[in-house]
Amino acid sequence: MSETDMKLVVVGAAGRMGQTLIRIVHGMAGVRLHAAVGRPGSPLIGRDAGELAGLGPIDVAITDKPLEAFVEADGVLDFTTPATTVEFAGLAAQARIVHVIGTTGCSADDEAKIRAAARHARVIKSGNMSLGVNLLGVLVQQAARALKAADWDIEILEMHHKHKVDAPSGTALLLGEAAAKARGIALADHSVRVRDGHTGARPEGAIGFATLRGGSVVGEHSVILAGEGEQVTLSHSATDRSIFARGAVTAALWGRNQKPGFYSMLDVLGLN
Ligand code: NAD
Repeated sequence: MSETDMKLVVVGAAGRMGQTLIRIVHGMAGVRLHAAVGRPGSPLIGRDAGELAGLGPIDVAITDKPLEAFVEADGVLDFTTPATTVEFAGLAAQARIVHVIGTTGCSADDEAKIRAAARHARVIKSGNMSLGVNLLGVLVQQAARALKAADWDIEILEMHHKHKVDAPSGTALLLGEAAAKARGIALADHSVRVRDGHTGARPEGAIGFATLRGGSVVGEHSVILAGEGEQVTLSHSATDRSIFARGAVTAALWGRNQKPGFYSMLDVLGLN
């Protein structure tokens, strides 16, 4: 450990991503686990975060006092729920630290509150923190620009584990936004989230989403560009949550040297 290590707080410490983040922060150079925050009232409060994450004791007890944890820290890694993330965005802004947000399913209202907090904090938010998916987003933009809407229909297919609570996934929406941007349209006006019964023919320029849920799948995404007599499929498979955790730590280290503001993983990875 060195004096210059970035002190990071993992919130949602008991979650699937929280546990992965604790293991990755513990093992990565340049960062240190300053605190781990659990849900108020959780029986895990007071337990050692390392023990819970399978590392053995690391002398960091899970706390339910986020602000106390934030004021002495340099950054927070947040993969929780939209309501919790909105609350923590206010606290991170008060503490003027870096807030890395992986939480998906935020409403437009949540997003506006997070952006307001970014006037004081350095917020980096992305529906997917992996290098591979962010590169895929760039490739989707290129493909959607080259293959015109009149002849090429775009459909996005995703599959995740059975515990996931939001649909389509944040990643599917990120890929849809990339395609919409390339075609100069607003995703909200052209997305088709559900098809059921007599739907009529596919509207030209629509961006369709299909969602599968089951088992322990970490994340599968395919963007299908379907033309007359041919199809192009761009896809990504995540087999381990550590790709998101490593991306989140990379984002925190990058954010340390930025001015307050709202950033994405494309900024972090230099893909913007
Ligand atoms: P999870 O349900 O396993 O974990 C969420 C945790 O947050 C739970 O342990 C819950 O107790 C905790 N929590 C909720 N409110 C809290 C509060 N007020 N204080 C402290 N902790 C609180 O879910 P997960 O699979 O880890 O996913 C979490 C989020 O991250 C989801 O929105 C998911 O879609 C998203 N995600 C994003 C990426 C990405 O790269 N952006 C990757 C994977 C998952």
